Amino acid sequence: MLQQTRVETVIPYYERFLSAFPTVKDLAQADTDKLLNLWAGLGYYSRARNLQAAARQAMEDFGGQLPVKLEDLRSLKGIGAYTSAAIASIAHDAPHAAIDGNLERVFSRLIATRKNPKTDGRAEMESIGQALVNLGRAGDLNQSVMDLASAICLPKEPKCPLCPLRENCAAFAQGIQRELPLKKVKAAPIELQAEGLILIAEESLLLARRSSGQWLSGLWDIPWWIEGSSPPFAAPAGSAQFASCAHLRTITQHKIYFQVRGIRCEGKPTAQELENLPAAELRWVPLREMHGINLPRPSEKALAATLGKLELDLS
Ligand code: SF4
Repeated sequence: MLQQTRVETVIPYYERFLSAFPTVKDLAQADTDKLLNLWAGLGYYSRARNLQAAARQAMEDFGGQLPVKLEDLRSLKGIGAYTSAAIASIAHDAPHAAIDGNLERVFSRLIATRKNPKTDGRAEMESIGQALVNLGRAGDLNQSVMDLASAICLPKEPKCPLCPLRENCAAFAQGIQRELPLKKVKAAPIELQAEGLILIAEESLLLARRSSGQWLSGLWDIPWWIEGSSPPFAAPAGSAQFASCAHLRTITQHKIYFQVRGIRCEGKPTAQELENLPAAELRWVPLREMHGINLPRPSEKALAATLGKLELDLS
């Protein structure tokens, strides 16, 4: 949940999630729609699916418990080198270094390396991490370096005068701490245009389940598609556009510029009128019941921006 998301944002999600799925078994048996609904707003939806797949694997292969050994943890869907080392060290004090961006930053600065910690400098990162956790208390050690990185050895403005490691820090000694670690050059984002639709009829909103092969597949959302990937939506006769809004979504390395149209129809359009909308399924949700449904955050914002312009009597 914490990937690219701040702790304050995650806490209410985490609490709701644990109260809905208190055990591995509950998560394994959960309805995927309910799971995705509780995750909506956090983004990176494959994490939710992987979490459930891992819970199912844990039920089948490990008696409903998270395994202890690193290689068993790595066999679970969505658990890679960093997460398995973090679980093994923090939960069981096993001597594995959990090397994420935080540890990479601190280690790169300590030895003042200009090698990329993810590529040609990887072996050095692992050897420093391993030497540290071999001293004992691997879980505490990993967490203490993570804390140092997030509170003191900050990416842009490291607070070196406060740092307990400064006397051993080669980058500080050379005054090059702000230059490290070496950043990899990011590829330019791919820019796309997309269209979205807020379709209202009989005080209900049309939702579309994203098809497999689409971004956010399996998720309920307002209907949206990349321009040109689907025929333009022709509003049914008797309908009127009541609002529109633009917003930007970033998905992986894509910057997607949305134009969302709010359209109100006289009555619910026929299946034929909706057949070009790209979706695995469609459903109408009464606006009064929308509070129980969580959509991806950009769609929530588009709804708030457009529905405010519509005078509806929902009493
Ligand atoms: S002295 Fe500065 S650069 Fe070095 S580890 Fe501490 S905070 Fe980071």
